[in-house]
Formats: sequence, structure tokens, C-alpha cells
Amino acid sequence: MKNQKDLIDRALSGDPFPGLPQGHFIDGTFCAAAAGRSMESLDPGRAEAFAAFARGDAADVDAAVASARQAFETQWRDMPAAERGRLLQRVAELIRENAERLAVVECLDSGKPIGEARGDIQGAARAFEYYAGACDKLQGDTFPIGPAYLGYSLQEPVGVAAQIIPWNFPISTAARGIAPALAAGCTVVAKPAEQTPFTALLLAEILKEAGLPDGVCNVVTGTGAEAGAPLAAHDGIDHITFTGSVASGTAVMKAAAENVTRVVLELGGKSPVIVLGDCDREAALDGVMGAIFENAGQICSAGSRLIVERSLHDGFVEALCRRTEKLTLGHGLRDPQLGPVNSAEQLARIAGFIERARERGIEVATGGAETTDPETGKGWFFQPTIAAADSPNDELVQEEIFGPVLTVQIAEDPEHALTLANNSQYALVAGVYTGNFAHAHRMAQRLDAGQIYINEYFAGGIEVPFGGNKKSGFGREKGLEGLLSYCRTKAVAARI
Ligand code: ADP
Repeated sequence: MKNQKDLIDRALSGDPFPGLPQGHFIDGTFCAAAAGRSMESLDPGRAEAFAAFARGDAADVDAAVASARQAFETQWRDMPAAERGRLLQRVAELIRENAERLAVVECLDSGKPIGEARGDIQGAARAFEYYAGACDKLQGDTFPIGPAYLGYSLQEPVGVAAQIIPWNFPISTAARGIAPALAAGCTVVAKPAEQTPFTALLLAEILKEAGLPDGVCNVVTGTGAEAGAPLAAHDGIDHITFTGSVASGTAVMKAAAENVTRVVLELGGKSPVIVLGDCDREAALDGVMGAIFENAGQICSAGSRLIVERSLHDGFVEALCRRTEKLTLGHGLRDPQLGPVNSAEQLARIAGFIERARERGIEVATGGAETTDPETGKGWFFQPTIAAADSPNDELVQEEIFGPVLTVQIAEDPEHALTLANNSQYALVAGVYTGNFAHAHRMAQRLDAGQIYINEYFAGGIEVPFGGNKKSGFGREKGLEGLLSYCRTKAVAARI
């Protein structure tokens, strides 16, 4: 484990991190931006730059799409599915072999605690493993159109799939989109977030090492306006998977509409965690803490609205505050319980929500202020925060904050809890803690969300379809349904 410690010490020293790719990954090689520009990625735990990367634009997107198109038509589409599966399985192995380096880079780039980053790397490997096994199980159907006919369908790859990736789960989101796209026979152009470009580039390098042909997976880095927008508007792509904010997702959908390009949108969330009086209290306390403080609350599916039944409320919220005040804060590489938030803009946004809430007379039970890494006095940190929220339509309850801020609402009974939970413009996930099996599954039927967690928040894995309703978007990633996003049905009817 000496290497691991050296890697972490080196990264913590603030020296430039060695061996990071600096260019786009296009047609199997790293290359500078066509316009020669670059930009810096910042380490949120120190609020300082740690590495530079290519600042791409439409010319780089054109080159990447051309390469992906060529690879689709000449190599990947027609490769036997079992062979594609073997290559993706090798990718999973290589991710695991490179796990520690990937985790350190993810931690530096995003700020998240290294323990969480390690989990994300394993999750990325698992995504490739899962879809590797699915490559040769994509089947069509037959249709009973009478003895004089033969009717059948084929599942064809859609073509070139764009992946527009956010900064909160860089490698996880890249893997959960790239793996099924490749499994289905599509080729890819990925655009990671400008805050967190590096693990997507390292993943592209791993794909090449695993033996994927050049051009099958390309990565263009840069800003949303300069690189993301031309990719979304490109008439050479056939599908877009976008994960990010509602505003950017709307812009992507409008751009896609011009070319009638298919989209899957995974947007914001303001997900409820319902805690009923008959639950296992300790499990619920653990679950609520993880739901909102993992990744400093910067998770689309964070459980940011606690809805607790009155009979349990007082003691439960007190216990929650006590636990919250004991959370350790620090640079992600020291593996604290709470890392920094990703950027100065994000920190200012979170602080703005709390400031306005206080002005409206909302009681902040704990936390509520900006802070820094206690060891270095640096970084973009926000104290883990819990606030009472009596008005169900208050901004604090309705808007996605994307930070470590939990609101607490009191429910008189399960029916009231359900009403409060569904009172949102978002509908991504919802959690329920109860010891009553019938309550749990009745709630699961009536909660408006794409995924329901019962007695363990964030339960599930790559096998379980994920995506939202309402303003949380549409389409599903993960699971076999995620694979079908990258397929189109061709039906054949023949007179015989
Ligand atoms: P946030 O507001 O949390 O930074 P965004 O939704 O803006 O999240 O970013 C998610 C991803 O979408 C990033 O890769 C970003 O560069 C990209 N992006 C932002 N705006 C656009 C756009 N108009 N078209 C395409 N991609 C975009």
C-alpha cells in the first residue's frame, strides 16, 4: 500500500499531478484543441488549480463525430456481439487494476471523499461488466402475421451516441452511458463537465488499452457553451444522453429537436425521504444522513426533503442534528465524512439559499455557514445543514440546492407524508422508512418518482433502471432498459 500512500501524499502536496492527459481523445489518440486553447481544473479541497486540459470547440466536436461515425460504419456495428462483450469485460478488469489512481484523480477533480470515489470507480467497473454480459443477449422478436408471411424484428444500434456528463459523478455517469452504448453497437463522443474532465479521459485510455478500435469512444473536453452545445446540435449524432441541470437539459433538448435527435435526460431532483413512526429508527437515521451528506449533497437523487411522522419527529431530528454536528470535514484525500462542494459558484449558490431562508424566518437547526478545510484553511466547504421547513411551498423545500442542506417537514400520518412528498416539480427518486410492509409498497405505488428506495436509501445498482418523471427528465439509464436507449427496432415483413 506504499504506492497508494505516495499517490495521496503527492496529490495533497499541491504539486502538479503527474501523467494526466491534457488533450482531447479523438480517433484513438490524445490531441490538443484545434484552436490550441486550454483551461484549468481546480481542486475544490484547496480551491486551487491542479492541472490543465484542452478547451475544445465545434472544430474538435466535428473531428470526434467524424471519427465515431467512421468507427461505427467500418468496425464496431458489425463486430460479433460476443467479441464486443469480451472487450467490455476487459475494460472492467482494467478499471479495477487502475482503481486507486482513478480514485485519486476523481477525488482531486470533484472534491469528493476518496472513499466515495473508490466506490464510484468500482461502480464504473461494474457497469462495464454488466453490459459486457448483455451484448450477445440483445434479441429481436417474431410476429404472427399468417402462414404466407414471415415477420421479425432486429435490434440495431442507433449510431453515434453523445454523452454529456456532469461534475458530481464524473466516471460513474460516463460509465453508465458509455458501457450500454458500446454494448448495443453504438460509438461514442463524450463531453465531460469542464470542472471534472480527467477520469473520462483516463477511461478512454483504458478502452484503447482493452483493445477497442480507434474512434469507438472519443472524448472532447471544454465548456458547455463551447463544446457541449455544438455536440448537442451536431447533425452527425443519433442520440444524446444528458445528465445535468434543467436549464442545460432544456437547451440540449431544443438543439436536438432541430435534427430530430433522440434524447435521454436525467435532470434535477428534490427527493423526499419519508420516515414513518413504525420504522427502524437507527436504520432511518443512517439512511437520512447518507441520503443528504454523501458527496456533500451534490447528487441529483440526494434525499434533500425529510418528511417525518409527528410521533417520531422531535427525538429523531435532535438525533440527526447531533450526528450532523459530529461529521468530519476536510480535503477529500483525507477521506472525511464530508468533502468540499465542487466550485466557488456552487458554494455561493448554497449560501444564497440559506441567507434568503433566514430572511424569511426559517429556523436553521444546525450548520448554515460557509467554512474551510480545518487543516489548511482552504477549499469550498459548506457546513452540513438542517432546517425546519413548515411551508411546503417555500423555496428551500421546492428548489434543488445541490449541497449539504436538508429540510424537515412534519407529516401527521402516512397519507399526509405522501401528499407532501409528491408536492414537487421534480420526481427522480423517493425513500420510505417503515416497518410496515403494506405501507411501504402502497407508498411505492403512489409516490411519483422513477425509483423508490424502501428501508435503504440509494439501494440498488447498475441492474436497476434509473431516471425521472416531471422536470427530473425522461428515459431510463442502467438496467436492460438503459441498453434499449441505444437500440432501434427494425421490423421486417416478408411474403414467403
Ligand atoms: P451545472 O449547472 O450543475 O454545472 P450543467 O447542466 O450546466 O450543470 O452541466 C452538465 C453538463 O452539460 C456539463 O458537461 C456541461 O458542460 C454541459 N452543458 C452545459 N450547458 C450545455 C449546453 N447548452 N449544451 C450542451 N451541453 C451543455
